[in-house]
Amino acid sequence: MKIRIGIVGGGAAGLSLARFLSEDPALAVTVFEASPEPGGKSHTLERGATRVEMGTCYTTTGHKTVLRWMRELGIGLRPVLQIKFDGAKFEDFVKAGDGPPTSVQILTYLIRRRAVLKALEAESPEPWALEEAAMPISAWLDKYRLPKIFRLFLRGFTNMGYGFLDTSPTLHVLRWMDWHLIWSGLRKKLQMPRQGWSEFWRRLAADLDVRLNMPVSAIERQDGQAVITTADQSRHVFDHIVCAIPIDDFNRLTTPTPDEAQVAGAIRWNSYTTTLFATDEWFTDHHIQSFSSALIPGAPIGRILSARYDGHAPDLGGHIYLSGQFSGAYNPDEMKELLVKDMQDRGVTVTNIIYQKTWKYHAEYAPDAIRGGLVGQLRDMQGDQQTWYTGATFSHESINHIVNFNERLARRMLQAMPPPHTLAA
Ligand SMILES: Cc1cc2nc3c(=O)[nH]c(=O)nc-3n(C[C@H](O)[C@H](O)[C@H](O)COP(=O)(O)OP(=O)(O)OC[C@H]3O[C@@H](n4cnc5c(N)ncnc54)[C@H](O)[C@@H]3O)c2cc1C
Repeated sequence: MKIRIGIVGGGAAGLSLARFLSEDPALAVTVFEASPEPGGKSHTLERGATRVEMGTCYTTTGHKTVLRWMRELGIGLRPVLQIKFDGAKFEDFVKAGDGPPTSVQILTYLIRRRAVLKALEAESPEPWALEEAAMPISAWLDKYRLPKIFRLFLRGFTNMGYGFLDTSPTLHVLRWMDWHLIWSGLRKKLQMPRQGWSEFWRRLAADLDVRLNMPVSAIERQDGQAVITTADQSRHVFDHIVCAIPIDDFNRLTTPTPDEAQVAGAIRWNSYTTTLFATDEWFTDHHIQSFSSALIPGAPIGRILSARYDGHAPDLGGHIYLSGQFSGAYNPDEMKELLVKDMQDRGVTVTNIIYQKTWKYHAEYAPDAIRGGLVGQLRDMQGDQQTWYTGATFSHESINHIVNFNERLARRMLQAMPPPHTLAA
């Protein structure tokens, strides 16, 4: 009999893990997804001939596995070439920072980054590594005298919706800002799927057992088995389950273990809003415009961090743009007001707000929890009570980190199960 694995959540985390596990014929993998579409935070809005990414946008050279899957599934790619920062070239903004040349600072950063991340992999990480991982990234960059890298991260980290540099723990920035991202950003290697991220996940899900419109409403774990109940009251028995939704949401479906309760208490979700709007008065000669005044520590919440030009759509009101804003405690109407006001301050009139999405985004770890060994706890709780964990809380809020994490997790899961398995290392 096959080993039954039930995955809760059909976003990037649930689907990519199912894809890896389904290579093993000894496993029967089922994904439960609450919504009618697979893909979670990858959400392509389709209006007539217009296709806009409201969620996941770019691949870097680090999205290796995803890029391979896209090729296999017939998904083409288009480059994102022209990025301006305060109206000028982004490279020039970075270069204007103090200290040694950009290449020297990047090298120093990558060496220090590696040292911290490697030290955190130890069974009991040394106190210096825990302290560096927990401190705000702005303090860490000061410590190693990397002012140009600070400028680089305004775009690479804050602009992506992950938080301000004076409050974000170093760990998150080190995880995200790897060589691939720096290289792809500076060398114009960012790409977007031509047919859209939603279509990519649809095609990937087509070869898997994905149950759409099937929200999980309860999970019972006992006697080495887990029973998943879905909203239609059907019950599904599994040998192992995977949490591929935010852990605080998972905990509401079950009696949490002490680890699950602690981890949910140690993270804080940010809120990030993307809005598609039209105007005929703004830039059309490049793809992305970022604004340092909204990105520097202390900038007011709700300002437009950057905007992407998504083409001309007369049926939607003219030239269309996708903006990103930290939402804080503002509601959707307030976010729209802030956007219109921000644009007015730039001398631009918004003619149509077409669509808006607010995302539960980027699980940020409490600094004290990092100092207390949260990273080791996230690693060690895997497999307890036949439960495995993936998604943004366990790796980082980006597709490549989630997929790379899942490739390792799939091997680890198989090692914990009775042989034979084709994937096991
Ligand atoms: C605006 C934006 C831009 C981004 N840009 C990029 C980018 O350029 N490059 C990049 O790599 N990444 C990007 N990301 C990040 C990336 O999209 C996410 O990290 C990734 O999609 C998270 O996947 P996940 O599976 O962990 O979570 P999710 O995508 O949130 O998936 C969770 C799924 O679980 C389902 N679910 C929830 N509760 C239940 C339940 N009870 N039962 C069943 N199903 C349930 C949800 O419906 C959802 O589909 C971006 C994200 C956003 C929001």
